[in-house]
Amino acid sequence: MKNGRQRLVLVAGGAGFLGSHLCDALLAEGAEVLCLDNFLTGHRRNLRHLEREPRFDLIEADIVDGLPARLRQPRLKLAEVYNLACAASPPRYQADPEHTMLTSVVGTSNLLRLSERTGARFLLASTSEVYGDPEVHPQRETYWGNVNSTGPRACYDEGKRAAEALAFDYARAGRAEVRVARIFNTYGPRMAADDGRVVSNVVTQALAGDDITVYGDGSQTRSFCYVDDLVSGLLKLMAHDGELPGPVNLGNPVELTVGDLVERVLAMTGSSSAVVRRPLPVDDPRRRRPDISLAWDRLGWRPVTPLERGLEATIDYFASVTRPVSARRRE
Ligand code: NAD
Ligand code: UDP
Repeated sequence: MKNGRQRLVLVAGGAGFLGSHLCDALLAEGAEVLCLDNFLTGHRRNLRHLEREPRFDLIEADIVDGLPARLRQPRLKLAEVYNLACAASPPRYQADPEHTMLTSVVGTSNLLRLSERTGARFLLASTSEVYGDPEVHPQRETYWGNVNSTGPRACYDEGKRAAEALAFDYARAGRAEVRVARIFNTYGPRMAADDGRVVSNVVTQALAGDDITVYGDGSQTRSFCYVDDLVSGLLKLMAHDGELPGPVNLGNPVELTVGDLVERVLAMTGSSSAVVRRPLPVDDPRRRRPDISLAWDRLGWRPVTPLERGLEATIDYFASVTRPVSARRRE
């Protein structure tokens, strides 16, 4: 990558599901992209198509451990820093809760310092989990949330809440321009098949003819946003020059139960998988739906991909990366 070009953008967590799509979108806009990732839940295969891209570079590093030499250069100028680094799937972020918490707190602090030093605008990928198990429905940005601060999800929820606090402290002190996206459940190609989230689990199970695991009775709701829509929201939020009152919800307000999702995937795949019940995880939110009027008013953003079309693309993706059922039966 050549130095001194106009728009150098850092994407922390760029080898992950959302991050790799964001790298693609930034490159399509003409930016130079530096991706930083520790490959905890991300994969090189998500970026393999960029190997020969001269405007793309990949650094392996953990944002908890301070910044690599490349990012410590005194004259480095960055236009934007996106912080997407953090495992997002409950089983993955609970596997090492201390590291998850440090990723959000220490890692975000490291990237905010970098933004201050390099003059970059900073965007935090926060989460609807800051609302916890919400008593207000749908969730607006003004709702302060209902998070269990000592439960197994706290490392993620409270880590993100602390990261938001840090970001707004930097903004108040004039140390960096910040944007905070509260992202609601997002799905699509390049989710890791084994990361344990509901869409990837259900689709891979249906395609393989394995039992579909529904946690609890399946009546809990989520609102699923297709990845392309979400990435366009991140770009618009980062590019927004006007005042914002605080964090901005990004998600799809179409709400459905986990049971409904399973029915749709079974119908679309023609799978005859059985549905089996598993215990509902501790503190699993009962319902979740974003109010996106702020994103619409200020950014002119709303999702445009219907669930059917997004699921179709996701099913095609998993069908292309997982072994066919016939091959599994022969083994
Ligand atoms: P993901 O797990 O696919 O991606 C996270 C990426 O961050 C991975 O590539 C991982 O290797 C990397 N990473 C984790 N810890 C790191 C560390 N300490 N240092 C460097 N890299 C690290 O998850 P995703 O779905 O792409 O989520 C991306 C971001 O968006 C996360 O911050 C997540 O909290 C947020 N988010 C995602 C969703 C969603 O539904 N996908 C919802 C809300 C918030
Ligand atoms: N879930 C499920 N089966 C699975 C994985 C998840 O029923 O195989 C449920 C989970 O308990 C939650 C919902 O699906 O109620 C969404 O889970 P996910 O991990 O995707 O996201 P989050 O809980 O973080 O919203």
